[in-house]
Amino acid sequence: MVDDAIDKVIPIKGAKCPNCGKLRQQAYRPFCSKRCADLDLGRWFNEDYRIPAEEEAGVEDDAYSEE
Ligand SMILES: [Zn+2]
Repeated sequence: MVDDAIDKVIPIKGAKCPNCGKLRQQAYRPFCSKRCADLDLGRWFNEDYRIPAEEEAGVEDDAYSEE
């Protein structure tokens, strides 16, 4: 009886590349290739460098409520 099995991380069978859907490669998991890994990385960079949209000024008329 060995309880070590509980600590083992069981790899997900048939895991596919989230980018293109191909079977992923161990070396590039969770992607199928460096290409897909780079693509995903680029996506993250885009997220990081995205230009913040103009924040809608939450001007409420209530702020100017004068009596
Ligand atoms: Zn892929």
